[in-house]
Amino acid sequence: LSKPSFTVQILGSGSATPTTYRNPSGQLIEFNNAYYLIDCGEGTQLQLRKINAKFQRINHVFVSHLHGDHFFGLIGLLNSMHLYGKKTKLTIFSPPELKEVIDLQLRVSKARLDYPIEYIDLQNKGFNLIGADDRLEFFSFPLKHRVPTCGFLLKEKPGLLKLKNEALAEYQVPLQERNKLKMGEDFISHEGKIIKNKHFTYPRENLRTYAYCSDTAYSPKTAEYVKEVDVLYHEATFENALADKAKDTMHSTTAQAAKVAKEANVKKLIIGHYSSRYRYVDKLLHEAREVFTNTIAADDGMIIRLD
Ligand SMILES: [Zn+2]
Repeated sequence: LSKPSFTVQILGSGSATPTTYRNPSGQLIEFNNAYYLIDCGEGTQLQLRKINAKFQRINHVFVSHLHGDHFFGLIGLLNSMHLYGKKTKLTIFSPPELKEVIDLQLRVSKARLDYPIEYIDLQNKGFNLIGADDRLEFFSFPLKHRVPTCGFLLKEKPGLLKLKNEALAEYQVPLQERNKLKMGEDFISHEGKIIKNKHFTYPRENLRTYAYCSDTAYSPKTAEYVKEVDVLYHEATFENALADKAKDTMHSTTAQAAKVAKEANVKKLIIGHYSSRYRYVDKLLHEAREVFTNTIAADDGMIIRLD
């Protein structure tokens, strides 16, 4: 029994402005053929087209904060989803003002969407379960930026348990009882004795987690929120020598991003949201790896698999 696919595709690894080489923030998450979009900077729609993503099938959009490089691409994408026949509900998790912006843009352009949008307002404090579907649970947590900003954590939901054939035979478990065992229930034998579920099932594999942190200054709290995730994306806008600039703009340096990964004991770190002054990011990657070895540098189009 193989695990369902869980991938992160980088749509934009740059920061404030689109450049020839990098788009602003956007990530497409795929879990077992369901799609989720995190942030939607200008040009995100074109990036989705380049990778042939079935973007009408995105049903959840997460917007971390309302700086333009994280949502200026959204109205165009919403309109195209309509033109391509989307009918299913879209849920948008965002700061509350986003709804006003989108409603105004739709009104003045006399655009109409044939699918419903549900807006879920993000709280800017604490670690919150903000939603779920049948595959993943979604959490938000506050970051430290110039405007209210949230990070997101997506967690795989438990699937069915795998059964041990010998144990099934031992107790002659009838077929209809096996589904209950797969869902975690205990078994009651002919004699009315309760046999614990774990006698019949293999231990669960770890439920995979992905966390997204952009944009933010370094905060020791971030590591608490993203403790032991499988993959952490953390912005690293600047090299270490520009720590003052990072502080002024409430962004992070490479060493600060890697420090969060180390403190949280994550399995893998992805850095991104690079300042447009960097054409190549080898130096940024090198600096981050000095603090946290298992780091990779995001690039537009890159796919990261969680396994
Ligand atoms: Zn940004």
